[in-house]
Order: sequence, then structure tokens, then C-alpha cells
Amino acid sequence: MTEEHAIDPWRMAVKQLEKVGEVLDIDENIMKILKHPIRIVETNFPVVMDDGRVEIFTGFRVHHNENLPNKGGIRFSPHVTREEVMALAFWMTFKCAIVGLPYSGAKGGVICNPREMSLKEIEKVTRRYTHQMINVFNPRSDIPAPDINTSAREMAWIYDTYSMWGGHSALGVVTGKPVELGGSLGRAAATGRGVYFVTRQAMKRLGIEMEGATVAVQGFGNVGSWFARIIAENGAKVVGVSDWKGGIYNENGFDVEDLYKYVYENPDNSDRSVVGYQHSTKDITNDELFALEVDVLAPCAVESVITKYNAHTVKAKIVAEGANGPTTPGADEILKDNNVLVLPDILANAGGVTVSYFEWVQGNDALFWTEEEVNSKLEEIMVRAFDKIFDHADECCINDMRLSAYTVALETIVKQYELRGIYP
Ligand code: NAD
Repeated sequence: MTEEHAIDPWRMAVKQLEKVGEVLDIDENIMKILKHPIRIVETNFPVVMDDGRVEIFTGFRVHHNENLPNKGGIRFSPHVTREEVMALAFWMTFKCAIVGLPYSGAKGGVICNPREMSLKEIEKVTRRYTHQMINVFNPRSDIPAPDINTSAREMAWIYDTYSMWGGHSALGVVTGKPVELGGSLGRAAATGRGVYFVTRQAMKRLGIEMEGATVAVQGFGNVGSWFARIIAENGAKVVGVSDWKGGIYNENGFDVEDLYKYVYENPDNSDRSVVGYQHSTKDITNDELFALEVDVLAPCAVESVITKYNAHTVKAKIVAEGANGPTTPGADEILKDNNVLVLPDILANAGGVTVSYFEWVQGNDALFWTEEEVNSKLEEIMVRAFDKIFDHADECCINDMRLSAYTVALETIVKQYELRGIYP
């Protein structure tokens, strides 16, 4: 475990909230409620592994509050902790409020390492975890989606398991499904595309030309690879990319489509890593990637990677948080002092849940949209959210887009509590 991973994301989320509390006059009782997830379901379940041995897995599902139906992804990783899932559910509440979706936050996770498991074992873990959550997931109250190490494949198994239990096909129970099973066109690219839209808007505001702008991306999974592909397609130069194994650099910019093929369509690259790509002119570490002289740095991997220990090395003008929680509160202060514009996760990566919402609406109505419709609705929502938060930052908290995003989201969230009241 790295030092960064040791920083408890839940403490980080509460710290972010308390910072807003210092600026905004928020009802003390509501602050108290926001600091306590309403529901934490923890389960230990057995799975028979390929060699006949029984392994016990621990899984979580957290609902941050229940003002609205709960929405949030499921993560498979050896680093999953209860506190991490609590923080991710908390951030989902704020994210949904920012883009105006009728959801409260949720998140799920299973402590496991899919890299060391066979396909059959991953399927068994997914199906058994779904079984454990059979009374938690629900098309009307808790709708999961993909996150780290889960994709359309796992969502199809969740959909199937839940539907077999219910005796009918429940299209609305999970999003990020394959298109053939009621998934939405544009969902796979949605988070990365959303990161691109807000980055583009920020570049316009800062007067940075897209053509030839330099970009470094940490993480080349769903979010990072789509962000890199889309920003490169629009004229930027992706000069650095890193992942769990290390990083690559080329001052002239990578052919990102070719890099994508190297990682995902190359049977010899079972690690699905960018490391070893032949067009790299220099191998770099993740820390070296953060220190690259670029216009945009996009951390799109895991949380707590930009910390007070390395934030001073960041030379990018914009940090676009594709990942959830990549920047610690200590790093935030340093970046702000150094005039780095941080596009906070709760805004920057909201494109994923936005198109998940589109998928839910389409599935519930059994009426599907074209990819152009999906992308243009996504663009409209992301641009509107960016403008609101950027303009609000001018009034409330210059160069602190995170604080601005929290204050904008809190207006909606506090109203939800006021309107519903506290039951009974
Ligand atoms: P993924 O599993 O598809 O990809 C993760 C990438 O990060 C991989 O390239 C992996 O090698 C890399 N990585 C893992 N650990 C690392 C480490 N310690 N250092 C450097 N690189 C590392 O996951 P994803 O779905 O792309 O999610 C990435 C981030 O984006 C997460 O924080 C997730 O919560 C967030 N996010 C995802 C979505 C979505 O729709 N998938 C939506 C919103 C936010």
C-alpha cells in the first residue's frame, strides 16, 4: 500500500465539507446528517475458487442519504475499504446535485483483486455479491453502475442475477450495461467525454488553445482512455500516460488510438498497461507524470495521488479530476497558491452518472436515443454545470472550484432536507 492510499478518503470528504461549513452558513443539524451515511451494508460471502478452495470476500454498499433514489458505481479492488466506499457515496450525492440529477449518492465495492482471478471467479464474485445485495439494489431505489475494475460485462451479470431473482427483466436496476441488454449508446465514453467538456470550457476561460495543448493522463482505464482519445481527437497532444505499472512519455504526443489498441486489443498485454508501448521515448513514474510541464494534468485512476508531498511539483495550468478524490485537502491549498485551476471530481467526472441517468430513463421507458442525442444532452449539462461553478467561484472563492462546486451542490441538498423534513 502506498502512502497516498493510507489517507482515509472519508476523513478527506468530511474535511472538504467542513471547509464549506466555514464559508457558508449551513444549518448545524444538516451538517451533522451529511457527515453520517444513512446506510452501510457489509457482507462476507464465500466463493468456490477454480482450485476448489473456498475464499471469503467482503463487500459493501453504502447509501449516503435517501432524499432521492440512490445511484453509484461498484468497485472491485484490493484497496476497497468501508471508509473509501463511504466517501465515494458522499461524493456521488454532491455530483448528482451539481448536474441536477434526481439521485442521492451510493457506492459499492468488493475487496478482491480481479487481476489475480479467472473470468469464472470474477463472474461468481459479481453474482454472489449481487445476491447478497438482492434487497438493497432496486430499480426504484438503488441503481449500481461500473467503477474501477468493473465494466459492461459485470453490469450484465448483475442485471441477469437480479432479473432471475425477480422473475422478470429489470432494465432499470443497473446502468452501464451492454447496449444489447438495454445499455445506452455513449455510456462507455461518457465519463471521459464529460471530463473533456469541462476541460475544454476551462481552457477557453483561461485562453489556452486546444490545438497543440499538452496533456498528461494518469490511468488508462475507462475514464482515462476515453478522455485521452477525445481530447487528442480534438487537437491536443497527449504527451504522458501512466497506470498502475508505470508511465510513458513522448514530447510529440502519442497516437492515442494506437496506444488504445496496444493496451486493449493486444493479447500479449494481459496487464492492460501502457508500459512497454514502443512509441514511448522515455519511461516515467507516476510522480514524474504529475511533474510534467503540460497545460492539462488529468488524474483518472485512484484517490489521494496528489498530496501535500508532491503538489508543489505540478506544473499544469489545469488539473482535471477524472478520478474520484485524487487530490487531498493539503494538496488543494498548494495548487490554489500556485494558481493551478482544479476541476473537482464532483464536477469533472459527473458525465458518467449523467449518461447512467439517461440509460435509466431510456430503460424504464423502453425507448432508446441515438448516440448524437446522448452526447449533445451530455454536453449541454456539463457546460451548464461548469459555467455555473466557474462563475460562482468568481463571487465566492477565487481559484477554488472545489469550494464553489460544494457550495452550488449544497444549495440543492440543503433544500432537499428542508422540503422533506426529518422523518417522522
Ligand atoms: P478502470 O478500472 O477502468 O481504470 C483504472 C485505471 O487506473 C487503470 O489504467 C489502472 O491501471 C490505473 N490505476 C489503478 N491503480 C493505480 C495506481 N495506484 N496508480 C496509477 N494508476 C493506477 O477504472 P475507471 O472506471 O476508469 O475509474 C477510474 C477513476 O474514475 C476512479 O476514481 C473512479 O471512481 C472514477 N470514475 C469512474 C467512472 C466510470 O464511469 N467508470 C465515473 C466517475 C468516476
